[in-house]
Amino acid sequence: MEGSRRPLRLRCSIQNYDWGRIGEESMVARLFERNCAAEIESSRPYAEFWMGTHESGPSFVVSAPAAGLGPEEVTLKKWIGANSDALGDKVVAKWGNDLPFLFKILSVSKALSIQAHPDKELARLLHKMRPSVYKDPNHKPEMAIALTEFRALCGFVSNEELKDVLFGVPEIRELIGNDEAIKIISTGDLNGHMNAKSLLQVVFFKLMTASNDAVLELVSKIKGRLEVESKIRTLTEKEQLVLLLEKQYQADVGVVVAFFFNYVKLSPGEAIYIGPNEPHAYISGECIECMAASDNVVRAGLTRKYIDVQTLCSMLTYKQGFPQILRGVPLNPYISRYTPPFDEFEVDHCFLPPKESVVFFAIPGPSIFIVVAGEGRMQMGSAVEEQVLEGDVYLVPAETEIRLSAAAGRHIHLYRAGVNSRIFD
Ligand SMILES: [Zn+2]
Repeated sequence: MEGSRRPLRLRCSIQNYDWGRIGEESMVARLFERNCAAEIESSRPYAEFWMGTHESGPSFVVSAPAAGLGPEEVTLKKWIGANSDALGDKVVAKWGNDLPFLFKILSVSKALSIQAHPDKELARLLHKMRPSVYKDPNHKPEMAIALTEFRALCGFVSNEELKDVLFGVPEIRELIGNDEAIKIISTGDLNGHMNAKSLLQVVFFKLMTASNDAVLELVSKIKGRLEVESKIRTLTEKEQLVLLLEKQYQADVGVVVAFFFNYVKLSPGEAIYIGPNEPHAYISGECIECMAASDNVVRAGLTRKYIDVQTLCSMLTYKQGFPQILRGVPLNPYISRYTPPFDEFEVDHCFLPPKESVVFFAIPGPSIFIVVAGEGRMQMGSAVEEQVLEGDVYLVPAETEIRLSAAAGRHIHLYRAGVNSRIFD
């Protein structure tokens, strides 16, 4: 069908979660303003910009090819339903008549909740048991690519570092009991060893199920001690983070649990991916995020939302060690690719200097493009060239080649999300 071979401009939705950056300071707000000609409220948080078909934040087709429909009337989901060839046969065969990924931009000023996303089996079960909390039956592996300096907590620290925590934070030792602490401290170099893992599980569970009063006392003791010690020594980065989290969430168990997770600091262009059942929390900064199309979150702390401690503690893998940092593999001088180990998605980054041009070759699956900065022209398939500007978002159907040129004196900075190319091998 000829109509579905044209790229479609999308009008996207945002989320104003309270951890978002405020007003014009938020990249989400600035892109939203340009994408939808929306007015930005200077005191409102703008947290997430969503590109995809998820019901909680749908995208709309601006230039609907079907006559008689106004631009506001067709969601991307509905359009894809009527134009499934835009997905390509392989994607339809594997995931049905919908986009398998959700593409986002995040502007984080305050830590998000510590969370994990269930694997497919658990997601199906949770959705069946509590559909009002776990809204879909899908897993949600995700990847975050830093746009600015980006901070996150991700996965459990190595046994080595865990021992340092138990040595260095007497208040935690006190809460979990000296016996347990001594067992961990005396496990030797047993990274990944069953014994170390089950000990970590026991200790984490004790902390997570501590009473509110115990947590309140624990947090205030740690805070008091660190404030005193900060006058005579430089606090570690983790200790500084714990004080920052305390300012944001006070007597929340997440403040203390931060000691158990890897503190990851990404520079622009660096990325992490998060597999099923891995604990994580984004702390600050702006990023591109891509994930399987789902919104299933099991929360553990740093939040006022519903916390499901039992589910969280039993689902986690308790894998220890620092996460892999992706830096993007160059496809040509202007495009590099981030490939997580998940079928649902990959992300390309394109930075094109003034007057240069580059081709995104036709592929058998759908893509979403977003221009995050700059200006240029885009030619799609056999259609005429079109001007593209910051904030423009397109769905590019399967088997459509894109030629992109930057304007004279302007670079163009863009990201593409698509299904993982490995499914086409
Ligand atoms: Zn997450």
